[in-house]
Amino acid sequence: MPKSPRLSFIIDHLLRQPKRISSVQIAVGELVPETDEQIRSHWSMLTKDTTLSRTTLTIHRVPAEQQCMACFEKYQPLNKETSCPHCGSFGARIIAGEEFYLESLKEENE
Ligand SMILES: [Zn+2]
Repeated sequence: MPKSPRLSFIIDHLLRQPKRISSVQIAVGELVPETDEQIRSHWSMLTKDTTLSRTTLTIHRVPAEQQCMACFEKYQPLNKETSCPHCGSFGARIIAGEEFYLESLKEENE
């Protein structure tokens, strides 16, 4: 049923925290296909009627980074560009941009 398994995983983890959480920041790589709006709507759907329903969600987009397998230069792909801007060769490995994890959280003061 959940459309965003990684987000539900984070929420499950947060719901097990003993204290109420006032705000949460998640890191989401630029290459993750879901938009911020989609993540937000999944978040409100999944946290509705839970202790997280009033928690503020911040989405931190992590820029994509690739490393060329020919010259080993690192670069940020533009418009999902896959050829290396240094040597022009194709075939790079993704070293950043596919993240999806809980970065920080703030507990409510009692
Ligand atoms: Zn290169």
